[in-house]
Amino acid sequence: MIFGKKINEPLSKEEFLSLCICQTCPTYVECEQTPAVKAFCHPTFGKSACITQQKGCLCGSCRVKQKMKLKHFYFCVLGSEEQQEK
Ligand code: SF4
Ligand code: SF4
Repeated sequence: MIFGKKINEPLSKEEFLSLCICQTCPTYVECEQTPAVKAFCHPTFGKSACITQQKGCLCGSCRVKQKMKLKHFYFCVLGSEEQQEK
């Protein structure tokens, strides 16, 4: 339960996936070979295999971005937070 967590306690991968709003984003494309992938900001996932065009990013409204204090956007095209730090 996310609101039961302490302020600096990181979210689990499952919480990234459950809170992610990518599938409501105009940029989101469901890949044929990997249909369930989202939470592109998470190091396990990173870039989408099929999203290439940037049509707006809803990450700014996502509780994962707020909770994890992520600095970047367009994780599906540009890679996870860690990848974009490099
Ligand atoms: S910040 Fe963006 S990529 Fe990460 S979980 Fe939220 S909507 Fe998905
Ligand atoms: S990472 Fe951002 S641009 Fe990409 S699908 Fe998620 S909300 Fe949309």
